[in-house]
Formats: sequence, structure tokens, C-alpha cells
Amino acid sequence: MKQVILLGAPGSGKGTQARVMVSSMGYNHVSTGDLLRAEVAKKSELGNRISDIINAGKLVDDSTVLELLKVNCDLGSGQYIFDGFPRNIDQAKALDEVVLKDAASVALYFDLDLNVLKERLVNRRTCRDCGYIYNMLTNAPEKEGVCDSCGGEVFQRKDDNDEVVANRLDVYKSTIDPILTYYSEKGMLVKINASQDPEKVSHQIKAALA
Ligand code: AMP
Repeated sequence: MKQVILLGAPGSGKGTQARVMVSSMGYNHVSTGDLLRAEVAKKSELGNRISDIINAGKLVDDSTVLELLKVNCDLGSGQYIFDGFPRNIDQAKALDEVVLKDAASVALYFDLDLNVLKERLVNRRTCRDCGYIYNMLTNAPEKEGVCDSCGGEVFQRKDDNDEVVANRLDVYKSTIDPILTYYSEKGMLVKINASQDPEKVSHQIKAALA
């Protein structure tokens, strides 16, 4: 199995598909967004330094995120899904040079119309305990605020509101093209049609990784 890099806009379904890949294919999942939010929740020195940046929808500096990534993955112990990293071309190069080195890897690009994302993101809710991702319009939990699968608290991310979502999508649009070119030139890029329903997206990912 190859190491997998997930590329795609916020709300394109990377987190949802990563969960499926963990449970059905045995991958380890490392999401830099989750790691950074955990630091904010812990109120660590790092968390306090970055919380305003995350809440504004801007990118945290490369060396902080790379350091956090390095200490949270060990390629010797299995296959990883990298979710939310790289966010710019320097991070893409650092991922190769510092983390992946010569490990066989593939970049899955979640391609979809960016116009649908704002609505998806502002309606997104996440379980604090198991990480299950809900959509209040299409897939709401049965009981408001309570996770159907584990009973945990379902919450809305602080950066999933109108204004910050708009910033996050702008950041995405201004950084994604060179990343796609980078992986395409290395022959590592596989495009996934992320506008399909989640089961079909999973199916396409499995086929791409077979
Ligand atoms: P995400 O959960 O991937 O949507 O990330 C949430 C927020 O965490 C982003 O808007 C950034 O502020 C920060 N973040 C996550 N991953 C990175 C990264 N690779 N580089 C810089 N900032 C990041």
C-alpha cells in the first residue's frame, strides 16, 4: 500500500473519506487541522500562538505545522493518509524531503465545484469524540448535538462560519494550482470526482489505490 496525500478544498470530503479508509483499509490518519485544533483546545503555548490564525482562516507557518506532522507520524509503523498537508508548494517539498523520503506515495485530488462548498461548510458539524462528520441539511444527527454513532457531543467548528469560510476558500484557491502541478509532474496525481455521493467517492478511491 502507498502513502496517501489528500488534496482538496475545505469541505471537499477529505475527512469523511479518511475515516472510511482508516476503518476499511487500515490506514493511519494524520490531519494537520485536527492536530492544530487539539493544541488550541489544550491551551498549550503553541495552541495559544496559533488560535487567532486558525480562527481567521489563515495558514499557520510552515515550520510549526511540519514539526507537528513529524512528531505525529511514523512511516515505519504503517501507511498514512496525510490530510490538510501540504497547503502550499514549500510544504509539498518538505513532505517529500523530510517525511516521505523514498516511500511510494500517491496524491488524491478531490475535485469539485467550489461554489457548493460554502453551504457545505457552514452546515458542517463534527463529533468531538469519534470525529464523525454531519451535514445539517443532508445528514443531521437524529438528536441535535448528540452523535448517532457514539453519543458524543456534536459541535460546529469555530472556523466554519460565513466569513472565515470565505477566507479559507480564498486561501485554497490561491495555493492549490502549484501543488497540483508539482504532483502531476511527478506522476503521482489521481483526480477523484468529489461531487459524487460519499459511497461512490470511496469506491473511486479504492479503485485508485488497488
Ligand atoms: P483544516 O481542518 O484542514 O480545514 O484546517 C483548519 C485550519 O488549520 C486551517 O484553516 C489553517 O489555519 C490550519 N492548518 C491546517 N493545516 C495546515 C497546514 N498544512 N499549513 C498551515 N495551516 C494549516
